[in-house]
Amino acid sequence: MHIYRSALLRFDAQGAPLYDEDGLLAIAPDAEGRQRVQAAGAWQALHGQFAGQPVTQLPGRILAPGFVDMHIHFPQTDIIGSPAEGLLPWLEQYTFPEESRFHADTHGAQVAEFFIDELLRNGVTTALAFATSHPQSVDALMREAQRRSLRLICGKVLQDRHSPDGVRDATEQSLLDSESLIARWHGVDRLGYAITPRFAPTSTPEQLRGAGELAARHPDVWIQSHVAENLDEVRWVRELFPRSRSYLAVYDDFGLMRERAVYAHCIHLDEADRALMREREAAAAVSPTSNLFLGSGFFDFAQADAAGFRYGLASDVGGGTSFSPFQTMMAAYYVGREGQNKEGVSLPPSTLWWRHTAGAAKALGLGGVIGNLQPGCEGDFVVLNPQATPLLARRTAQARNLEELLFAMIVLGDDRLIENTVISQAK
Ligand SMILES: [Zn+2]
Repeated sequence: MHIYRSALLRFDAQGAPLYDEDGLLAIAPDAEGRQRVQAAGAWQALHGQFAGQPVTQLPGRILAPGFVDMHIHFPQTDIIGSPAEGLLPWLEQYTFPEESRFHADTHGAQVAEFFIDELLRNGVTTALAFATSHPQSVDALMREAQRRSLRLICGKVLQDRHSPDGVRDATEQSLLDSESLIARWHGVDRLGYAITPRFAPTSTPEQLRGAGELAARHPDVWIQSHVAENLDEVRWVRELFPRSRSYLAVYDDFGLMRERAVYAHCIHLDEADRALMREREAAAAVSPTSNLFLGSGFFDFAQADAAGFRYGLASDVGGGTSFSPFQTMMAAYYVGREGQNKEGVSLPPSTLWWRHTAGAAKALGLGGVIGNLQPGCEGDFVVLNPQATPLLARRTAQARNLEELLFAMIVLGDDRLIENTVISQAK
């Protein structure tokens, strides 16, 4: 049993923030030995239950849920910050050459270790990650996540066309490989598998059909891909799949839209697409630093909320420019404000935070499991130090309410704000 006394941030079932300036967080192993939140709330109300137990006092710190990154490419760690003329040239010039290196086990293992260090340094405790088309790249990341007790979801990229030698896979073998990776990793410890077509243009209809059949046979396995990021890409998909109503509908036509299906970007959608997202209970991984970096467009938060489909925030490293959830939330705010191409909105700081923690978990189908510090949740959390930099200390000290405090951390925060990241260990 670990008992902490500190300021404490968590969320209620509707996504509203709950904040105790003098809070208590108790973490204890469950029957299987998994560390879970046993109690969370005001110190005054709860400490009597734990009389005589040792307490870790963290004055001036804030305990908050670990961040959930809904879309990230672990093999793109080393090409973060590579400039290009938009998505398709960026893939050709940087992504595919780098991903071809993951044919070698040693390279995958070495990048996996660095990648998870970087997630944890930034307070990210769960990620839905792309590997490469090489099955051994999935093994590399899963092994490393397992060693660190991380809750992580990952999949082998499917791409059997319009891809250069070194990353292109073979249709039938790619599906067999996916199936054996599901058997090897899905549901093992805290790991999950995601069926991972890179995006519609790089898969043949046969590969997409096979992926859909795999998804039907394994309903609790995730699906991840990209959709409607960039207008050139949208045009290309229309040429390749003329019989589908839209780019998003391509995935639906192949059985790849369902709960636990996560589509990165979702920028250039129409009303019918948004309704389809909601009906199928699929989720969008909104990746604002990537969308601003590659000049792809602006996710329409107002329309997404009006349609009522699930979404959460994501870094999309290496198209995204930072592992830091603070940078992602800041960029989401900029994208929300943009009002020339869509309605401009000011997203409340607590909403941005929720979309990257409990809200992202909910979109992944892991609500109540991770991303929050309510009783029963797995004990992944961060210790924030609002005095980490002189400006943070000065600005947060003057915050008049929780929204101002959260916004000051979003605007000014980076990895220095994360003093510690604690992962729920199994005994
Ligand atoms: Zn991506």
